[in-house]
Amino acid sequence: MMSPQAPLLRGSLLPERADPAWDGLAPDRMSGWLCIAGLGPGDEALVTPEVRQALDQASDVLGYIPYVARVAPRAGLTLHPSDNREELDRARAALALAAAGARVVVVSSGDPGVFAMATAVFEAMEGRDDWQALDVRVLPGITAMLAAAARAGAPLGHDFCTINLSDNLKPWALIEKRLRAALGADMAMAFYNPRSASRPHTFEQVLRLLRETCEPERLLLFARAISTPQERLRCVPLADATPGMADMRTLVIVGSSTTRRVGRFVYTPRSVAA
Ligand code: SAH
Repeated sequence: MMSPQAPLLRGSLLPERADPAWDGLAPDRMSGWLCIAGLGPGDEALVTPEVRQALDQASDVLGYIPYVARVAPRAGLTLHPSDNREELDRARAALALAAAGARVVVVSSGDPGVFAMATAVFEAMEGRDDWQALDVRVLPGITAMLAAAARAGAPLGHDFCTINLSDNLKPWALIEKRLRAALGADMAMAFYNPRSASRPHTFEQVLRLLRETCEPERLLLFARAISTPQERLRCVPLADATPGMADMRTLVIVGSSTTRRVGRFVYTPRSVAA
């Protein structure tokens, strides 16, 4: 267990230690702060010490229900779980709490800046000079793509790109345009949110598009619930990939034309011949 005085957050905006007398909105408005923290892909060992310390010092934790459930309750800490569709409201609530003097952590899985809450908080700050002046820090976490790649070997060892396949916040036409551009550049690709119950056909369309341009031997990794007890890692050639291999807990990596197997590992060579 880490000491709250440990100088982990050198130069940080966090106070050195929690105020044990804190029991509600602090009277000193200047003492409030907000951290947007990444909890990593699931395993407690992959939560950074910096994030752990912020959680130890927090008075309020906000986030999507399953992420807040990963934070241990304790005296002096109020947990505010909320539904996934309420990101901007959650961001505003977090900023308002910090402005009132609370020590607030907004939690995301993986990294908070990768298809997660950090952007929502900055979006909520737009037009609010008071909120822009607050002590706000983004604490990085291990994003699903990196945890999945590490499990498999080094499939992202050369150039790669990342695409969120959810069309909740952008039109499908834009996803398709970016996919085609990445395929044209022969890069490895990591797909977040590949398939959900509400849009089961998206990933079928993606596979169809891959089959138009890639050879049947192209390697695909399906990394499900990495670093949790439900973890499952599958590597198949494009010819054998099926839509059912992906769900909302899966991160999909599509290799480039040079991605290959070595023993039980998958890697992408660091160099490409001139
Ligand atoms: N901020 C998160 C991503 C949120 S989007 C991060 O940096 O990891 C949610 C998507 O992330 C899921 O649909 C899935 O594609 C991926 N994901 C999150 N945790 C995962 C895990 N443990 N294993 C595999 N994929 C995961």
